[in-house]
Amino acid sequence: MVSRILMHVGPSVANYNVLSAAVAPNIGFASPEFNAAMKYSLEQFREVTGADETYTPFIIPGGGTAAMESVVSFLARDSRVLIVTNGVFGDRWEGILSRYPLKFKILRAKAGNAIPTAQIVAELREGGFDAVTITQVETSTGVRMPLKEIAAAARPFVKLIIVDGVASIGGERMNASRWNIDICLTASQKALGAQAGAGLLVASQRAMDMLQQDSISGYLLDLRNWAKIMGSYLSGGGGYFATPPIGTVFSLAESFRRIEAETMETRIGRHRICSEAFRKGVLEMGLGIVASESLRSSTVTGVYVENTDLQKFLKAAMAKGVEFAAGVHPEIKDRYFRVGHMGWVEQAHIMLALNAIEGALNSQGAGISKDSGKLAAKEVFEKSMPV
Ligand code: PMP
Repeated sequence: MVSRILMHVGPSVANYNVLSAAVAPNIGFASPEFNAAMKYSLEQFREVTGADETYTPFIIPGGGTAAMESVVSFLARDSRVLIVTNGVFGDRWEGILSRYPLKFKILRAKAGNAIPTAQIVAELREGGFDAVTITQVETSTGVRMPLKEIAAAARPFVKLIIVDGVASIGGERMNASRWNIDICLTASQKALGAQAGAGLLVASQRAMDMLQQDSISGYLLDLRNWAKIMGSYLSGGGGYFATPPIGTVFSLAESFRRIEAETMETRIGRHRICSEAFRKGVLEMGLGIVASESLRSSTVTGVYVENTDLQKFLKAAMAKGVEFAAGVHPEIKDRYFRVGHMGWVEQAHIMLALNAIEGALNSQGAGISKDSGKLAAKEVFEKSMPV
């Protein structure tokens, strides 16, 4: 058995009760236990995204990409979509939407930056767009967008505000109702910290009214097919359209039980403190951070390393017990790696991560002074969570 902690950008550090909830029951999807797990997960997902009862929650098979693609159900043929992208996952909307008879325009930021709110609004004001896509945290760089501000400014000029919260929901603040966001989506394996296998989204009444009769979406991801079943789960029943990810739903229900007990407020605070400690640590070790200072997320950090063989570094870190993610943003791919601090992350994980970074870089002659990163991080924890 390998003893290693996963500080990848998703899945990230495990909670073994949550993971094992997926395999414990040999229970079918038509059982009362499954229906109850679905109902509870749908209701709790609404809570976590700050969506009131006018929003319809969905849990569908697949993951973040499936949830993204299902959004096509809300768009009529020839709809115009503004894609706001700060990196690889924002770009994914182009890959998806270009498969359908839709029109789109792209605003693309440089690595580590975000498209400013004023630019988004200027574009929407010009343009007769039906929808805009925003990525709350861009996983290829760790950039977080000021969602509340963007949604408020964009609202008068666009019908649907669509937010990819795959790398944020469960770790960052999300307030669908108050911020007037139409669609928030995520995947089970990221900051919700459950097994992989499900895509989750909430849709406002305005969005549900736009579900297309003459849909251009495919069969599996046409949300009209799923809406009936979600309604049935919410009222205590069940149903079948296509087999749901049974184990993942049990894992999600366990995750939501723990989130409810922790409270979202505490959970958001834990993510903020862990990420702040981690960033302090890497800066103290003389490394750079990819995201511009005002845009740094609580869930993902991209770390620049100079004069380092990154593949060797990632292997050496793994040998020291911590698995990180490689860089993926094409502009800077060979100069950085990524760290996920989300879901069930705690002080111990941050300390082990900094320890592995120091050791793995020093094995390539970086000359980082011993324990410098860990001491800086410890100070943040001591200040934020006095024992
Ligand atoms: N959007 C973002 C922001 C992501 O981080 C990811 C996954 N890394 C996705 C979409 C795609 O999700 P999945 O891999 O679950 O399909």
